[in-house]
Amino acid sequence: MSSDCLFCRIVAGEIPATIVRETATTLAFRDIDPKAPVHVLVIPKVHYADVATLGQGDPELAGQVLATAAEVAEAEGLLADGFRLLFNTGGYGGQEVFHVHAHLLGGVPLGPMLAR
Ligand code: AMP
Repeated sequence: MSSDCLFCRIVAGEIPATIVRETATTLAFRDIDPKAPVHVLVIPKVHYADVATLGQGDPELAGQVLATAAEVAEAEGLLADGFRLLFNTGGYGGQEVFHVHAHLLGGVPLGPMLAR
């Protein structure tokens, strides 16, 4: 828990969020500025800065983040039409909050992965 980390403070209940799923090790909540009809962030409760440090530091927990994302995708009705799961990482990746989070996006055709 880092007191200056926004998402650690959401885990601690110090900042409100619309939580859609919680497990012993993960939390999923709606993005405050949604980019699609469904836009949920899925995080590990313990602090890792990004998906690289999570994936190398605790691959089992990384898998639990993916499992929670899949459960939310199913609960939100996204499995039939599909969805996008992405981890912005570092400066070139456009990461703004340095507590690893998967963006789960869906509900409409999402278009090409990147604008050229
Ligand atoms: P990223 O650019 O990948 O680091 O994405 C950070 C995401 O966190 C953005 O999509 C923000 O809209 C979202 N966000 C920032 N503050 C909050 C908050 N308090 N509750 C929910 N989502 C947030």
